[in-house]
Amino acid sequence: MEILSAASPDGAPVSIPGRAFDTWKATIRGDVLTATDPGYDAARAVWNAMIDRRPAIIVRCLGVADVVASLAFAREHGVALSVRGGGHNISGLSMCAGGIVCDLSRMRGVRVEPSRKVAYAQTGCLLGDVDRETQLHGLAACLGFVSKTGIAGLTLGGGFGYLSRRFGWTSDTVRSMDVVTAEGKLVTASEKKNADLFWALRGGGGNFGIVTGIEYGLHKVGPDIIAGGIAWRGEEAPRVLALWRELMADAPPELTIAAVLRPAPPAPWLDPSVHGKPIVALFICHTGPLARAKKSLAAIKKWGKPVGDIVQRRPYASQQSLLDATQPSGRRYYWKSEYFAGNESAMLDRVADHGARIRSPHSAMVLFPIDGAINRLPNDHSAVGNRDAKTVVNATASWESPADDAENIAWAREAWNDVRPFSTGGTYINFLTEEEGGDRIRAAYGENYARLQTVKRTWDPQNFFRANKNIAAG
Ligand SMILES: Cc1cc2nc3c(=O)[nH]c(=O)nc-3n(C[C@H](O)[C@H](O)[C@H](O)COP(=O)(O)OP(=O)(O)OC[C@H]3O[C@@H](n4cnc5c(N)ncnc54)[C@H](O)[C@@H]3O)c2cc1C
Repeated sequence: MEILSAASPDGAPVSIPGRAFDTWKATIRGDVLTATDPGYDAARAVWNAMIDRRPAIIVRCLGVADVVASLAFAREHGVALSVRGGGHNISGLSMCAGGIVCDLSRMRGVRVEPSRKVAYAQTGCLLGDVDRETQLHGLAACLGFVSKTGIAGLTLGGGFGYLSRRFGWTSDTVRSMDVVTAEGKLVTASEKKNADLFWALRGGGGNFGIVTGIEYGLHKVGPDIIAGGIAWRGEEAPRVLALWRELMADAPPELTIAAVLRPAPPAPWLDPSVHGKPIVALFICHTGPLARAKKSLAAIKKWGKPVGDIVQRRPYASQQSLLDATQPSGRRYYWKSEYFAGNESAMLDRVADHGARIRSPHSAMVLFPIDGAINRLPNDHSAVGNRDAKTVVNATASWESPADDAENIAWAREAWNDVRPFSTGGTYINFLTEEEGGDRIRAAYGENYARLQTVKRTWDPQNFFRANKNIAAG
């Protein structure tokens, strides 16, 4: 190759001499793909099919040395760089147009130390990789609701899941992270080493470096728990949401229930008579002792006339992947999300109303509880903040054809506009779409934003890491 056309972080054209490219490529242990290579299109595809960006180079790293070399090459030639973990972010910022993608998706090693109750995971891991290895020892990290999500993006943005009411944000359970900085140095960030960086990485996303490994504190969970899903006809939504609010108001920390309103998928556990029709479902996870969990959930199982009930004894790992099929890679997705400090009836009525007006068979209104342990730490414990929030509401539009973009996006925006008056004013950084920048990023961090700017000035004063929900150094 004579010249490789690329783009600078500002989007200006950059020419990389073919010889320099070839020399550098020969040093990389993983694969280096450009537009003419087989596998390039598959490598640039991310979970959200709305994203269609063409990087100049995709480096499928096999180790930390590949990461360091990719960063050095991007800096030397003034080329933009983005970082891909699991590729699951709604905004698809892991793929930069014209730049170099540092793709970590082949770095999926996990080492568990049961005696210390910690796991070290490389940052190409998906949540299911960590669950699989930790559950071998009856331990679990506090991760999210869908096992195909990347640990890196999730943890760096905060992270919440079935265990968060017990143990906090995912980032609250992190002991340390290994990071390649903007200067290309490999450092460890923890409470004791580079504490300012550690504070910022726990919520501040990809703004401060390329994280190559994360050490999580683990908790005794399962392997068997009482968990699953239970659903009723859509007409019952207002009553089921009132029940959900009541249950969550005095639920023990071991119990988490997410409420979902959507058209029923053709899942075998749901009565065929409701397939394609609106349902309201509760996804329940009780990680306490089995007998106590059974007792605690007996009333829900008897409530009304369910059209499907798979709340039962099951492996914790199976609960972690129960929702995977509802969020496949390659569909079109658009989300609008907000935090709430209470679950006012008027807010729940609006959720039910928009749940009944969904335009696609795949969309959903979802309520996740994030009270409990998250709320108990001070807001400036780490960058993620938002410790006054008790619920996340997400209008998740999901459809197949580009012809249906406008209709589905309009539904999500309308639902969000209608529930927004009840918001804390905060929002979840990991649920922001491509178009949501400036004010929405500040809303996600609130009072912690100014401190994030200070840390950015120290660790990335030139804003090299900007293919992300960007924190300007100010
Ligand atoms: C189906 C689905 C379910 C989800 N469920 C939950 C949930 O239950 N709980 C929850 O909290 N969130 C959830 N999320 C949101 C999720 O946390 C974010 O989408 C997250 O960014 C995904 O991480 P990833 O590594 O797959 O993302 P990617 O798209 O690979 O990366 C996202 C961004 O993170 C940064 N980044 C990634 N890796 C690194 C790295 N190694 N070093 C530095 N920066 C990096 C980059 O800025 C990148 O643009 C869900 C998302 C989806 C699509």
